[in-house]
Amino acid sequence: MLETLRRIIQEVNTAPDLQRALNIIVERVKKTIKVDVASVYLSDADRSQHVLMATDGFRQDAVGKVRADFGTGLVGMVREREEPVNVEDAPSHPRYRFIGETGEKPYHGFLGVPIIQHGNVLGVLVVRHREKRKFGEEEEAFLVTLAAQLAGAITHAGASGEVSRLLDALDSQSMFLNGLPGAKGVGIGQALVVYPLANLDAVPDRKAEDPAAEEAAFRKAVDDVKDDLRKYSASMAAALPVEDLALFDALIMMLGSESMLDGTVERIRAGNWAPGALRETIHEHVQVFQNMEDTYLRQRASDISDLGRRVLTYLQAVGEVSREPFPQTILVGEELSAGQLAEIPMSQLAGIVSARGSTSSHVAILARAMGVPAVMGVEDLPVGRLEGQKLVVDGYRGIVYVNPNDTVCSEFIRLQHEETRLSAGLKNLRGKESITPDGVTIPLYVNTGLISDIEPSLNAEGSGVGLYRTEIPFLVRENFPGEDEQMRIYRKMLEAFSPRPVTLRTLDIGGDKMLPYFPVNEENPFLGWRGIRITLDHPEIFLTQLRAMLRASSGLDNLQILLPMVSGVVELDESLKLIRRAHKEVVEEGVAVRFPPIGVMLEVPSAVYLVEMMARRIDFFSIGTNDLTQYLLAVDRNNTRVAGLYDSLHPSVLRALRYIVEGVHSEGKPVCVCGEMAGDPAAVLLLMGLGVDGLSMNAGSLPQIKWVIRSFRQDEAGDLLDEVWKLEDPHSIRRLCNSILELGGLGGLVRAGN
Ligand code: PEP
Ligand code: MG
Repeated sequence: MLETLRRIIQEVNTAPDLQRALNIIVERVKKTIKVDVASVYLSDADRSQHVLMATDGFRQDAVGKVRADFGTGLVGMVREREEPVNVEDAPSHPRYRFIGETGEKPYHGFLGVPIIQHGNVLGVLVVRHREKRKFGEEEEAFLVTLAAQLAGAITHAGASGEVSRLLDALDSQSMFLNGLPGAKGVGIGQALVVYPLANLDAVPDRKAEDPAAEEAAFRKAVDDVKDDLRKYSASMAAALPVEDLALFDALIMMLGSESMLDGTVERIRAGNWAPGALRETIHEHVQVFQNMEDTYLRQRASDISDLGRRVLTYLQAVGEVSREPFPQTILVGEELSAGQLAEIPMSQLAGIVSARGSTSSHVAILARAMGVPAVMGVEDLPVGRLEGQKLVVDGYRGIVYVNPNDTVCSEFIRLQHEETRLSAGLKNLRGKESITPDGVTIPLYVNTGLISDIEPSLNAEGSGVGLYRTEIPFLVRENFPGEDEQMRIYRKMLEAFSPRPVTLRTLDIGGDKMLPYFPVNEENPFLGWRGIRITLDHPEIFLTQLRAMLRASSGLDNLQILLPMVSGVVELDESLKLIRRAHKEVVEEGVAVRFPPIGVMLEVPSAVYLVEMMARRIDFFSIGTNDLTQYLLAVDRNNTRVAGLYDSLHPSVLRALRYIVEGVHSEGKPVCVCGEMAGDPAAVLLLMGLGVDGLSMNAGSLPQIKWVIRSFRQDEAGDLLDEVWKLEDPHSIRRLCNSILELGGLGGLVRAGN
């Protein structure tokens, strides 16, 4: 049954639309568990009814007509109980209700399972048997698994408007997708789907503007792939036996087959653009092969997928160039990259929605820095079906509304207005000091990485730059920038902020920050070759960067250098040696620059316990709470599945912070926080209580954090911390901090609207 299940799931996943997915389910279920009828009912929330949407066994004209109120019948009972109902003799059950419209005599055996997604009952999957029959455990498990699968398909279809089209009136309120808050704010706009090159599954449906041109491009792409295959075959002729070379001929034949060519052309003529039409044809073929009994033939499915990707690669080379962002663009993708964000003009980027990643992913950090609302980790995101759709991005709660109705839209427009009012209120803090009412100054710095951030960062009027992520200019290029180019980038920053200090962090690539031109493939990248580990292994890259930094600071002398991912003193000593060498070199070349203050990022747990030793060698520390949290809690900061466990307010993280602050202060050195925690109003109350010497955050958060600091006395923060030490879980800690903010009149900082 497992194999059958696997195949049905595959078929459902590749079905071109929901109706076909439902039909596949009922047909396969009826056959597999040998029942007389299999049916799917979907919930029509508007009318509080179940609607028969697919059946194998009842009359087909009953589809769409048979409706039953939620509270009635055995189907209604499945909905209420939210668990399977297995009845041997349905007519004798008190909840039984005869469905006349199907024109059938009563059925006896009944098994119904709910189709549930995120706690919502979307429908019911039912099998009926003419004779009395108590269904077995395995049959029940089979239906439950399929129902779970179907729930995903229905949610996707709901999001794309398909369910409402099918039902004619599905409650549009329920068409939302849950993710994780990535960047606060509300964004309203149209979806622009970006997808990695040659990823057929992620290609969206899109209307063909010029079907004839799409068809020609498709035929040309097919010819190009055939040419490539012929070339591969010729170049391998000497090395491969004839039987293996025949594979190329077979692939060329497959590609040129009528079903492949005509199938795609037909879809183009029906209105889809070439990549979308190709995706559907390839899926259809893959499915045919996957269903074959013969193992060899089944494996050919991957050859077909490969052909599809090859054709797509050629198509994309033609098609991608002319895509224009919408005036209010919501960027949507399976996994968005920093480069993709940078491609959309800031003035047109209204929101970001990513199927992968979490609150602490670098894309989310970038979104916060740019002040663009973002929702991450939307696992059910039907990427392929969202192009051009209207979306509302609620970055506070991590929810995306697809084609929202007028009520939803006007509510979010109202919230946007409130946000504008809140930030206008915060403008009154301009020029005011970051000082607590009892006179403790806590300097605020900005985190940056894009040259385009200089303006907002300067407007945020912080005490300088607490973290410049130098990898960002590296990420948006096609090769390593040279020393002079880097020097120019850093100089702009140093000049713009002079005489305020600018903390340039040395290259921190690896983990989820891969340079396209320096690929590192690892099983476990966050525990692998990352940050200082890479730069110490590549002193040529490190020295080039250090030299560029030092030269950039000449005459300004406001540079501070920060080292990422340091795990112990050996790495620190090696780094210091290279910094001294770079400094000596540039000075000998005639550049007048003082030796800059050197800092270490505290983000690897092993470094926490060595702060005193390190403090004697360097000038300052900066706590990278994003990584420190992920490593202390053993929770991948990008993994949506465990995102609920990732919280910098975890009692262990707070204890590590206390240990750090006490250790560093005992050596008379300063320690700041530059992770996202520094821009989190609830966390800032605790950081104030801990006595950190400064906070560095994205420019957008700075006015809010200044408001927090100016609203609470240090001793109040200390008292709060005393209470927090008694709490045992991050949720209670956050609740307590939020309630303190709320009492102080700052509740608007932690929820949409105020
Ligand atoms: C951190 O880890 O907290 C940090 C500031 O660095 P990044 O987010 O760039 O890893
Ligand atoms: Mg880090």
